Amino acid sequence: MRKKVIAGNWKMNMLPNEAIDFIDQFAPLVKNTENEVILCVPYTDLFYALLHVQGTNIKIGAQNMHWEESGAYTGEVSGKMLKSIGVEYVIIGHSERRQYFAETDETVNKKIKSALSNGLKPIVCVGETLEQREQGITKNIITDQVEKALEEISAESLKDIIIAYEPIWAIGTGKTATKEDANETIKQIREKIAEKYGQNVADGVIIQYGGSVKSSNAKELFEMSDIDGGLVGGASLKPDEFSKIVNYK
Ligand code: PEP
Repeated sequence: MRKKVIAGNWKMNMLPNEAIDFIDQFAPLVKNTENEVILCVPYTDLFYALLHVQGTNIKIGAQNMHWEESGAYTGEVSGKMLKSIGVEYVIIGHSERRQYFAETDETVNKKIKSALSNGLKPIVCVGETLEQREQGITKNIITDQVEKALEEISAESLKDIIIAYEPIWAIGTGKTATKEDANETIKQIREKIAEKYGQNVADGVIIQYGGSVKSSNAKELFEMSDIDGGLVGGASLKPDEFSKIVNYK
């Protein structure tokens, strides 16, 4: 039985004092959950958040990383640097990074490899645009992204990788995929993984849904057979709302 993993993506929001206030309010609200709870925070909040979640069940993630360990890459932060301060997770290939910062399937693959070799757990985002959905090519787009993201990644590593299926048209728009559509696409991702690594590996991989998840739709989505929790943007910025998503049952 796969566990549910619920991760907040704060994007470029929250100053350190706001992050600390958030954790103070949020931690008691989620302390009894069986679900894995992750907060993916801006770089400037990481150290404060890591100190502040000590003694709680909350894990901390970053939202991006560079694939090289060090070097002349002004403004970048490496997986090795994230690991050195105790970060556990890192979002890779979020659609906003693909769209605004020219990330490609190739850079996503390099980042995943580097994250894994530095002992970080990547949350790998894939998703189709509205045009692609309307053209009926969602399955091709998603399975191609998964295939390229996982190029030269071993079966053994799949236990440390989370995949987040995030239809781009549903991110930050208030539009959510229907639970049936989200489940169907996630099943297709699982089938792709089964084809590449075998059914056992596929059955164990955590695949989240992301795109306008809120407390009012979390339960119906997360109770679907193949949806193993969510990656949550806007609704993860409010402790009360995000705790209701984590405690969706
Ligand atoms: C996200 O940022 O990954 C996301 C899913 O955002 P939202 O929940 O706001 O749609």
